[in-house]
Amino acid sequence: MSDQNARQSQPQFEMQDPRAQYPAPPFPRQPQEAPGLASAMQPLPDHGEDSYVGLGRLRGRRALITGADSGIGRAVAIAFAREGADVALNYLPDEEQDAREVVALIEAEGRRAVALPGDITDEAFSRELVTRAVKELGGLDILVNNAGKQVTQPGIADITTEQFDLTFRTNVYAMFWITQEAVRHMGAGGSIINTTSIQAYRPSPTLLDYASTKAAIVAFTQALAQQLGEKGIRVNAVAPGPFWTPLQPSGGQTQEKVMEFGKETPFGRPGQPAELAAMYVFLASQESSYTSGSTLGATGGMVLF
Ligand code: NAD
Ligand code: MG
Repeated sequence: MSDQNARQSQPQFEMQDPRAQYPAPPFPRQPQEAPGLASAMQPLPDHGEDSYVGLGRLRGRRALITGADSGIGRAVAIAFAREGADVALNYLPDEEQDAREVVALIEAEGRRAVALPGDITDEAFSRELVTRAVKELGGLDILVNNAGKQVTQPGIADITTEQFDLTFRTNVYAMFWITQEAVRHMGAGGSIINTTSIQAYRPSPTLLDYASTKAAIVAFTQALAQQLGEKGIRVNAVAPGPFWTPLQPSGGQTQEKVMEFGKETPFGRPGQPAELAAMYVFLASQESSYTSGSTLGATGGMVLF
């Protein structure tokens, strides 16, 4: 990590102006191949590495997080470990370098990190992922469906069947397979958290397939919350606005949009993954005991719904 690209971390509890809290555009051009690496981003995203302070809110819990190597999932993994949870992480084999950093951070807290790389668009792998996480962690209390695929295209004619299929397999089918397996192992007090998006409610014309998957995630969350209420399992979703993660420069947006990323929000900047971690902790912990079927937003002031 060069000094010019040092991570800008912020004290978690200090009052400050949210507009000035983190970097604002313009950002440099920075194309990456999907899925991309957090360590190659300029500026480096803040996942709370140097700042997140746990309060014991998830002591003894066992969590499975998909896409936990980078971005939002990485911030959630760090926060969960600092709140006292053991964490199983899924990511793609190409992301081993990012994942190693997360494993080290979890282990530095004295918590267990179980690395389970693999492609969740494969149904057999998705189901096995849960079985392995349960076996390694000795059970499962929290599931965070967070892995996602986003490929910008100018028009409907540009979206191939292959892209449409892979986006739905990653964002919707894998969530279904993983959740179906996980529910068999989860008991009362358990929490499922799905990552949707502001795109579910305010779709960009260039993200037609992606936005459709995010709307599906909201409906899935609301239907499942009603099913699982009688088991004492809560199901909620988080809807981020623009967040500074590898998803965006690796094909999720055009480079022109990456250079201006977050400018359209009232705060004039993108969110950093560290700014979302506490929302997932809240939904995972007993503090949100009466919250199920909800979608919580973090949009930098943009209207969610
Ligand atoms: P990210 O690139 O850091 O994380 C996405 C992760 O998905 C990758 O790290 C990868 O591990 C995983 N993934 C993708 N395809 C996979 C596959 N086939 N098998 C296994 N894992 C796979 O980016 P992020 O922005 O932190 O994304 C996390 C979630 O947040 C996604 O669901 C995304 O749609 C959602 N989201 C992001 C934003 C944003 O602006 N960054 C906004 C709204 C919602
Ligand atoms: Mg990644």
